[in-house]
Amino acid sequence: MSISLDIDHRATNAAADGTPVMGLPARKPLIGLTQHDLLQALSETAIPEKQLRMRASQLWNWLYVRGASEFADMTSISKELRSDLAHMFDISRLEIVTEQISSDGTRKWLLRLPADDLGRRHEIETVYIPEEDRGTLCISSQVGCTLTCTFCHTGTQTLVRNLTAGEIAGQILVARDRLGEWPHLIEDAENAPASGRFITNVVLMGMGEPLYNFDNVRDAVDVISHGEGLSVSKRRITLSTSGVVPEIVRAGDEIGTMLAISLHGTTDQIRNELVPLNKKYPISQLLDACRNYPGLSNARRITFEYVMIKGVNDTAEDARRLVQLLKGIPAKVNLIPFNPWPGTDYECSDWEQIEVFARIVLKAGYASPVRTPRGRDILAACGQLKSASQRLKKSERDALKAAAN
Ligand code: SAH
Ligand code: SF4
Repeated sequence: MSISLDIDHRATNAAADGTPVMGLPARKPLIGLTQHDLLQALSETAIPEKQLRMRASQLWNWLYVRGASEFADMTSISKELRSDLAHMFDISRLEIVTEQISSDGTRKWLLRLPADDLGRRHEIETVYIPEEDRGTLCISSQVGCTLTCTFCHTGTQTLVRNLTAGEIAGQILVARDRLGEWPHLIEDAENAPASGRFITNVVLMGMGEPLYNFDNVRDAVDVISHGEGLSVSKRRITLSTSGVVPEIVRAGDEIGTMLAISLHGTTDQIRNELVPLNKKYPISQLLDACRNYPGLSNARRITFEYVMIKGVNDTAEDARRLVQLLKGIPAKVNLIPFNPWPGTDYECSDWEQIEVFARIVLKAGYASPVRTPRGRDILAACGQLKSASQRLKKSERDALKAAAN
């Protein structure tokens, strides 16, 4: 059988190292396509119509259950079809630039993305945090972030673009490769958990604001949570937002993951300073959107993240105001000791102060665990992610910000 080439100019047109190659037909990326879109992509090939569903499910299984990163490995598919598919489609992994392993077992990967339309290859970071009862993968949704929260290292990165659904879901594939979490690797993996799963939870808490990249995040979550593939249930995926109010309820309906809100301040004055997006969507609007988040119950609560910054938002009065604000919302509070990064003026609250704060929140009936900083020695903790990408000219930055907003 032969398959005609489908040249799609939005698709990658790159050598194995991701460098664009002029004159070569583009290979369309398959990773990150929902099952519906994968079927659509295959229908543009010469695969007979009555075989399409079977081929799509074969491919899905190779990509997301067995972890194939080359068509040549797909031995249940004829050699000829494999070769045709390889000419049309790209299933390569994101390139690992560095892998750092912390003394506490946390791992951080710097990943290089395929070239964009201008031939630039951006970098993002992904972090794996092993704990006794779970393993959490913290993934990025954008290169940098258009928002400028004053305590966040990512917010100082000026170079921004949305990740594709494939680049978002692709972070899990890389992590599974490196952790050895595919069926043919897991038996040999050192310290393999009894459940056979290293990655039990996924959090969209890496670089970027996921709700400013809504469609790609939605499609990536679809792929990550699909029961016949990577199979991370939506109840174990948490989307963290700085408070993009108009998209919050829609996210509940269309993405359906657990929700975390980066609150960090209990008055508009303080929150305006820490999370400037608050000037657009103040606390009262944000909490109204939370109240309307679909499917909330005591078993399905919103997490409110609160970074503890010395002398800024950490008094007992702040804690009491926080409890008042959350009234009526099924909520838990996650207190995050501020993680310093080179160049910041903020400091982490004193431990005694964090304890005073936590006790007030706990006494009011909210679980309020203090998040243990992980991977500090490799700058992998919350808000410390920032790839060393080149800087854009101001005019380019403004154009990208306008597009992302
Ligand atoms: N943009 C989204 C998700 C990425 S940030 C958001 O803001 O929610 C993930 C979490 O890390 C957020 O709660 C963010 O406020 C927190 N964070 C950012 N910088 C931090 C820092 N330096 N120390 C501790 N937490 C930080
Ligand atoms: Fe962006 Fe979140 Fe950092 Fe704010 S805290 S700058 S929204 S990544």
